[in-house]
Amino acid sequence: MIVKDKRFKVYLEASTIQQRLKVLGQQITQDYQGKNVVMVGILNGAFMFLSDLCRYIDLPIELSFAKYKSYQGTESTGKVAELIGFDDSIRGKDVVIVEDIVDTGNTIKKLTEDIVRKEPASVKIAALLLKPSVYKGSIPIDYLGLEIENRFVVGYGLDYDGFGRNLKDLYVLDE
Ligand code: 5GP
Repeated sequence: MIVKDKRFKVYLEASTIQQRLKVLGQQITQDYQGKNVVMVGILNGAFMFLSDLCRYIDLPIELSFAKYKSYQGTESTGKVAELIGFDDSIRGKDVVIVEDIVDTGNTIKKLTEDIVRKEPASVKIAALLLKPSVYKGSIPIDYLGLEIENRFVVGYGLDYDGFGRNLKDLYVLDE
């Protein structure tokens, strides 16, 4: 599959991703019984993950979005900019931040700091993917889809320079 100007190959099939999301959805359903949960998807990358994950959660939850940017091309810039912040309405609620992928951890560090200022009752993190060999942070990923190698991936919400977010499988750069 050519995305923009690079060749990618299938890394995780859609069915593998869905099986894992089903398990995460069941865990979240158990953990948040009787609670006031709001899941906050981090745009743009988490839109497909959140959209599928929330359908495996058997509770009437609240959904919201925030927008952050750190990647340019296939490299993390190290700087994380807030484009749309967290809503004040999360005060006193149990928040689950929903991220597409944790790489260096700069993004989840920044957004956890930002969200704590809004005084939620609790904060947990759900991430579809983690690159454990790159992650430098100490913040635990409470609901993790899958660990992957340190390779650039695209599809299932993740882009390469804006392209490929719609692909239902996850692809890896074919080097
Ligand atoms: P971090 O701040 O943890 O270094 O990077 C997190 C953000 O970088 C993710 O939310 C995602 O947008 C982007 N990112 C990290 N690794 C990849 C990757 O392999 N592919 C794509 N498309 N984006 C990535």
